[in-house]
Amino acid sequence: MAETPQTAGGAPAALAKGALRRLAAAKLEPTPANFARAYAEEAGEPPSRNEPLPARARPLVERLAARATDDPALRTDLATALLEGRYDDLQRALDRGADGAAAQAQAWASLIERLSRALDRGNRQWTPGRKKESLQRVLDGSRSDAQRLQQRLRQLISAWEEGSEDPGAPVDEHPRIAGSLQQALRAGLPPDEPRAVELADELAVLADRIHDEGATVDLAQQVAAVCGRAERLFAHRHQLVDELMQLCRSLGDGLIELAEDGSWAQGQGASLRARLDDTASVRAVKAARELLDHTRQRQRELRVERDRARDALKTMIQHMLVELGELGDVTGRFNDRIARYAGVIEAADTLDSLAGVVREMVGDTRTVHEVVAGTRERLAAEHARAGELESRVRELEGELRRLSDEVSTDVLTQVANRRGMATAFEAERARVERDGATLAVGLIDIDNFKKLNDTLGHAAGDVALKSLAARVKEWLRPVDHIARFGGEEFVVLLPATPPDEAQQVLTRLQRRLTASLFMHDGREVFVTFSAGVTGYRPGETLDLALERADEALYEAKRTGKNRTCIA
Ligand code: GH3
Ligand code: MG
Ligand code: MG
Repeated sequence: MAETPQTAGGAPAALAKGALRRLAAAKLEPTPANFARAYAEEAGEPPSRNEPLPARARPLVERLAARATDDPALRTDLATALLEGRYDDLQRALDRGADGAAAQAQAWASLIERLSRALDRGNRQWTPGRKKESLQRVLDGSRSDAQRLQQRLRQLISAWEEGSEDPGAPVDEHPRIAGSLQQALRAGLPPDEPRAVELADELAVLADRIHDEGATVDLAQQVAAVCGRAERLFAHRHQLVDELMQLCRSLGDGLIELAEDGSWAQGQGASLRARLDDTASVRAVKAARELLDHTRQRQRELRVERDRARDALKTMIQHMLVELGELGDVTGRFNDRIARYAGVIEAADTLDSLAGVVREMVGDTRTVHEVVAGTRERLAAEHARAGELESRVRELEGELRRLSDEVSTDVLTQVANRRGMATAFEAERARVERDGATLAVGLIDIDNFKKLNDTLGHAAGDVALKSLAARVKEWLRPVDHIARFGGEEFVVLLPATPPDEAQQVLTRLQRRLTASLFMHDGREVFVTFSAGVTGYRPGETLDLALERADEALYEAKRTGKNRTCIA
């Protein structure tokens, strides 16, 4: 039971009555807590140390706390300690507040120091006038919130120090925004298309007007109309690309239909068609073009060999005719003489004259025999040469057919071909999806290969391709994959390798390759390559990843070659 206060204030009943009077005067409800407080006051006692404050004190206490500090956490701590009568906690919170205020003062002092230094330092972009103007704007915008003011001042000073744009400058940037849009439009549309030029010019005029007149409803409508026309033009261009793809596919089909059944050209046509069946990507079109170039090159070689074989056959026939003619002459002459000899033999009356005729006849026969044997020999040699050339053509055709029929290995370089890579990629993709492992995809393209072919010959180019493929394969880990993807382009897959590590791996290969060279016909051949790498993203196709790697490869070519970029 609670102890009844026994004090000088009087008897408990009188104290209780007095307490009730106090409650009535203060218009407080006679709750046990209110009554106990009023009783203690009536008895002349100080209020209990742990007495909570009444609910209506809350807003007042919160206002007081808000005045005391900007720190929201400290504000809550102060108010609740006071409301719940936890005065030791209140003391501690006040001490913390004092520390915080000191820290704040410190922060302000260093900020003001930075500000004054930054104000003095000249900068081409930030003239003193512009600095003053931006400072005023920050002060006007944030003076009611000390924390925000501090933050914006800090940003402003950083902008002055870096010479960058005012982060809080009001948007009077219409011309710049419109300029960028206009530039993007010009870049997106063909430069020789008069309608595109017209649209870009109209946009420029509208941008100037927005700058001068502000963004009115009328101007917004005009901009929308110009953009609508630009959209139609873009859509038309997309259609053009689609149509071109269709044309390429039809050309591929034409190649298949025109080629003899089972011929090498038919295989190439099918492979061209497969490349164009992918979505219309830069890679697909480029791969198709390279395939056609390569096909043309090989066909040219084949044609040269065929022409040689045909010429040899022609020469042989001509020689045969000449030889036959000569033989005819000789045998014709021989026949005449035989007829003459017959007459002489008939008229011969002595053995001596007969022996003379026989001697002459034997001599003539020997001559004819020699001529016939010589002719036979020469014709046999011509025939052998024509046969050799013919079988060389057959061999070449067979090799070309094998080239396009090859299941998964590239015949020249003996590394995987596209088909081989597709199989390897499937396995790696499954691993990524199953184990969440990383997979780097890299695209390698030999630098200045056309020049190497032109200066040292196609055969030297082939040697370079073989050597490069062999070295890259040897230098990569056994778990990595390399495939020839076309002409002088290779794809690598590096399992469990993040893109930046893959970039280092390929850069190392480039350095090793630069330090070595191969020999062709006693001459030194240097070869370098450029590369682009990217991380495979689960769910995407290999083509999509290669498209990204190709962008990085393009960047590597553009920035000096013999390097690896990342996308
Ligand atoms: P870049 O540095 O920009 O890559 O220039 P590049 O000359 O290497 O590239 P480009 O695409 O202009 O030329 C590639 C050349 O590769 C053209 C083609 O004749 C040649 N090529 C393609 N396949 C073969 C092949 O199997 N053997 C040989 N020797 N050359 C090939
Ligand atoms: Mg290339
Ligand atoms: Mg190249």
